[in-house]
Amino acid sequence: MALQKIGIDATIFEAHDGSADFIGSFLNTASNGLDALKAIDAHSRVLARGFPTPRMVMWSGSGKRLGEVANGLRLPDGTVSITVERGHLHGALRLEALKRGIRIEQGKRLVSAEPSDGGVTARFADGTEVDGDLLIGADGIHSRTRHLVDPAAPSPRYAGQLSIGGRARGTTLRPTPEVFHMIFGRRAFFGYSVREQGEVYWFANMAWSGEPTRESLGAIAPTEWRRTLMDLVADDAGPARDIIRATTDELAAFPVYDMPVVPQWHRDSMVIIGDAAHATSPSSGQGASMAIEDAIVLAKCLRDCDDIAQALVAYERLRRKRVERVVAYSARVGQSKTLGTVGRRLRDLVMPLALRLFASPNAHAWLYGYHIDWSERVV
Ligand SMILES: Cc1cc2nc3c(=O)[nH]c(=O)nc-3n(C[C@H](O)[C@H](O)[C@H](O)COP(=O)(O)OP(=O)(O)OC[C@H]3O[C@@H](n4cnc5c(N)ncnc54)[C@H](O)[C@@H]3O)c2cc1C
Repeated sequence: MALQKIGIDATIFEAHDGSADFIGSFLNTASNGLDALKAIDAHSRVLARGFPTPRMVMWSGSGKRLGEVANGLRLPDGTVSITVERGHLHGALRLEALKRGIRIEQGKRLVSAEPSDGGVTARFADGTEVDGDLLIGADGIHSRTRHLVDPAAPSPRYAGQLSIGGRARGTTLRPTPEVFHMIFGRRAFFGYSVREQGEVYWFANMAWSGEPTRESLGAIAPTEWRRTLMDLVADDAGPARDIIRATTDELAAFPVYDMPVVPQWHRDSMVIIGDAAHATSPSSGQGASMAIEDAIVLAKCLRDCDDIAQALVAYERLRRKRVERVVAYSARVGQSKTLGTVGRRLRDLVMPLALRLFASPNAHAWLYGYHIDWSERVV
């Protein structure tokens, strides 16, 4: 959509051959990500599908309130960070793109690409190929494009944790408007928010040593995940057990990864954006917002620079420092979720003070206060 706005005709080639609008759990779309969408007027559908969660209240496993921290900033028009189902975020953006006449071709898995006359030829698993001026790899943490840009590119780093989440109905919990509660439990981290109608959105993180394979996790039945989780939160104060018990979703766990530094983001007429270039672990709630920001900034660079090569250099210059800072910040937050006994005690002592410092809106201004002025030139 950002490319269209600057007069570039782009096609989206997506590996999935069906609609992905119902795939996945939910995520935080932070105020800075929503602000970036506003730059191309693509925010309304997304906002309509989510619910506001501008605050996080932290608890220890023993039930002590550790403090509160802002989840994002309030934008001048009142917009705040939202929680939105992943499929709804995807669906809202897909519908908006289609409404604007952007072509989306599904069942097109990129396998290789090479420079061609002044541009690039992309080849897909179905045997087809297409020529273009620029290939933008927005193909996620296990990006194929990353390896086409640099065959020596690093692989994702396993964070030693699993993430698991779901939705629960029929609990007696009171709604928690605008708030996500976060419990630093003894053996698991548990986050939840209760909607007006009583539906509970929740997720948990647990330590898991040794990088699991997709197959090894898939072999664990949903009932077993439920038992494991119930056991991990058994000694903690708070409603985690009731919420897990009231969850009807089939539970499945996913390993947490990030990509701290990807040395090469572009080569010839190929570039990577979003998770392909700098996946952050989920703890910052920023991965989707970073991907959105990348897309808008890249379009501005293509608009303002003399040629593609200069635009890709400008894009990296404008984005690398910020995204690597977010990835590092997220990794630190993630580590604080699954500490041993001593670390946990220390954290529960220090956190109330730290949170009082972080309660100021300025403490996270570097993260949430990032604003893309569409009309400002990058060079
Ligand atoms: C458990 C968990 C919780 C998270 N929570 C949050 C959160 O609260 N807030 C947040 O902002 N972020 C969160 N994230 C991170 C967020 O999901 C990602 O940062 C974001 O989806 C990245 O967007 P992307 O477009 O770069 O990649 P993706 O969303 O991964 O999209 C990549 C797309 O490329 C397609 N694709 C892949 N390979 C190919 C190929 N070879 N050819 C063609 N198409 C291909 C895929 O099918 C997919 O549609 C979380 C992640 C996880 C795992």
